[in-house]
Amino acid sequence: MPADFDVIIIGGGVIGLACAHALSADRSVLLVEQHDLFGSETSSRNSEVIHAGLYYPPGSLKESLCIEGRKRLYAFCEQYDVPHRKTGKLIVAPSADHPALDHLEQKARGLNIPTERLSREEISEREPNVRAEAALFSPETGILDSHTYMLRLQQEAERQGALLMKRTRYLRGKAENGLWHISLQTSDGEFRVTSERMINAAGLHSHDVAKRSGADTSLFPRLHYCRGHYFTYNGKSPFNHLIYPLPEKDLAGLGIHATLDLGGQVRFGPDTEFMSDHSRVYEVSPTLKTKFCRAISSYFPNVDVSQLQPAYAGIRPKLSGPGESTQDFVIFRDNRAEAASLLHLLGIESPGLTSSLALADKITARLSTET
Ligand SMILES: Cc1cc2nc3c(=O)[nH]c(=O)nc-3n(C[C@H](O)[C@H](O)[C@H](O)COP(=O)(O)OP(=O)(O)OC[C@H]3O[C@@H](n4cnc5c(N)ncnc54)[C@H](O)[C@@H]3O)c2cc1C
Repeated sequence: MPADFDVIIIGGGVIGLACAHALSADRSVLLVEQHDLFGSETSSRNSEVIHAGLYYPPGSLKESLCIEGRKRLYAFCEQYDVPHRKTGKLIVAPSADHPALDHLEQKARGLNIPTERLSREEISEREPNVRAEAALFSPETGILDSHTYMLRLQQEAERQGALLMKRTRYLRGKAENGLWHISLQTSDGEFRVTSERMINAAGLHSHDVAKRSGADTSLFPRLHYCRGHYFTYNGKSPFNHLIYPLPEKDLAGLGIHATLDLGGQVRFGPDTEFMSDHSRVYEVSPTLKTKFCRAISSYFPNVDVSQLQPAYAGIRPKLSGPGESTQDFVIFRDNRAEAASLLHLLGIESPGLTSSLALADKITARLSTET
């Protein structure tokens, strides 16, 4: 019997939506999202930065997909009228010959990512409120309106015939005779569909969705939740560009940085807080102000504490725990003999937003070789 769909995608965050957009060009696609809105978990709780691709381990998916994804994303924003701006960013260092800054500069050169080394005087000219001895300017870094981006992915996927369902929860799936038999929970009750292939793009719930598909998740890399908080800074922006300190050890985070939104409002964050459980608590405690102030004042000495307001938090789905070296994105092919094709996307933390179109292309290519 033919399947109802060629592909079912579990999860309507930016990655699921980008996959639906790419795959619906020549396949029948069903995407299910449990919430009332697409992209209401990690995809709407981030810095909305289009990363240049400077930071990631050589040869990693994070590096290649970020660089390719950045180019694709700027082109997509132009084509589909998604508000965005190539703001450029400064990565600032406390000493003129800081080895970590030298390392980033060399890496950028090797990857053909344009950067410019700035002295203390040049920093003061461009950013009078920033104090640093040296900086690397990355002109390719930018910001985008991630909500409009996701809306355009949704609209284009639907225009190509994809069925995108909100308020629909994936309950379980069983592979039989080369097809996935899937149970979904909607407000009208439970119903079943069949699909030839399945993509697990469930973000923080990736391991839960895998279990519901019968996978042995003890074979998967362990999933750690790592929260990042943001504070907004009231009033006129003290900066003209995004300002980043040097990244944290083990790349747990990129350091508490200053980003601008498209309206010119500054926000600081995210910090890194590994969570002891998998609760999705997004509260931002005002007591974090002291920690934020200390970090920010290292490059913005005139920070006015009274202008910092708790804003929002996001949770990174990490495959590395505290103190462990950073892990790459994982595209895990479920190899159970009886299974129809199933790809689990694991650990899609930053730069997932920047990488989304390139990752979706990679998934499309993977599925094509399996036909
Ligand atoms: C603090 C922070 C800052 C970041 N900053 C940046 C940045 O500046 N630039 C950048 O490139 N990246 C950034 N990222 C990374 C980026 O946000 C993520 O990589 C990206 O949003 C991941 O998207 P996703 O679709 O995989 O996950 P999600 O957005 O979490 O989507 C998964 C979806 O699956 C749904 N789902 C789960 N289980 C089920 C089920 N059983 N049935 C139906 N639906 C289900 C969920 O409801 C959810 O909507 C940041 C991340 C964080 C946390």
